[in-house]
Amino acid sequence: MQTGRITSCEALLRWRHPERGIVSPGEFIGIAEEVGLIAQIGRVVLEKACREATHWPASVSVAVNISAIHFRGDAVVEDVAAALERTGLEPSRLVVELTESALMQDDALALSTLTRLRDLGVRIALDDFGTGYSSLSYLDRFPFDTLKIDRSFVNAMLHRRETMQVVRAICGLAAGLDLDTVGEGVDTPEKAEALGALGCRWSQGYLFGRPGPIDGFRHLTTGLPPVADTAA
Ligand code: MN
Repeated sequence: MQTGRITSCEALLRWRHPERGIVSPGEFIGIAEEVGLIAQIGRVVLEKACREATHWPASVSVAVNISAIHFRGDAVVEDVAAALERTGLEPSRLVVELTESALMQDDALALSTLTRLRDLGVRIALDDFGTGYSSLSYLDRFPFDTLKIDRSFVNAMLHRRETMQVVRAICGLAAGLDLDTVGEGVDTPEKAEALGALGCRWSQGYLFGRPGPIDGFRHLTTGLPPVADTAA
């Protein structure tokens, strides 16, 4: 936020159905998980996102959401490795985004999968942080690189002193653990400034860019005007 530099883009999925038009991921991801298609979709998305990012400046990474079901399956590390190998993307330019639900069930398996992913050189972000169980023991034991502060906090923080304190605490905790923080759902300069004042250095949201077709992301070099002075 201090420099306006674009450091990462998140891959978002839309289904263009011939009769129903655009079907939102809110509708089809849950069904894909139920019927056992989510890992296949995840593989396609990983490869497509990695391939696309090879056309971007080397300073811009790509973030891919991995479903908890895919993460807990037996092939996620191989799937990520295959996408990197087939596309030639530098592993450090891939951010794997996971929600807390991916980590809840089997600690030993989750820890081993996360460690193997990190050994590939990819970065790990904990998505929508603060809305699930938010067990602090995850932060203690699992090797993350980034905490993404859920949009519900970002939305409420300007109106509620309590929420502001929660976000302040998350930013402080992240700084102490050497984790990056990304504010989600930032759609006004006021939200960006408030996050910046708490030491959150990265933000995403409509203030910076709206979801759009992948071709629109090939001109990422220009950057954006700075929106906040960060305290950290
Ligand atoms: Mn995400």
